[in-house]
Amino acid sequence: MENLDWFKQQLKRLTLSELEVLEGWIQEQKQLISQVSSQPSKKKSKRRIVKAVSGHTPSGKEALWQLEYVRCGKPRCQKCTIGDGHGPYWYYYWRESSRDKLKSKYWGKRDPLI
Ligand SMILES: [Zn+2]
Repeated sequence: MENLDWFKQQLKRLTLSELEVLEGWIQEQKQLISQVSSQPSKKKSKRRIVKAVSGHTPSGKEALWQLEYVRCGKPRCQKCTIGDGHGPYWYYYWRESSRDKLKSKYWGKRDPLI
């Protein structure tokens, strides 16, 4: 958390209107992260999140990128029964607008757009 002090120092240079823009952005980030982490999963521990990073969608919208292991649900799959599941694969989560539902999309093993 020592980075936080550095950020605070930087933030002191901002004007009121810049801080207000930042405040809105922070609200959006908080919402996005809490939406993703509170999403009800159909099965217990279907996904295991390895990493979560904020970035953007291919169309340039704010997005949360998560590297996840996924369970396919087949009873005899060794990757799922013995191991962590399949992956890890990147998924990204975003909203088209603030009123829209959270969307998610599979991205795969490619480098995320962060
Ligand atoms: Zn499997």
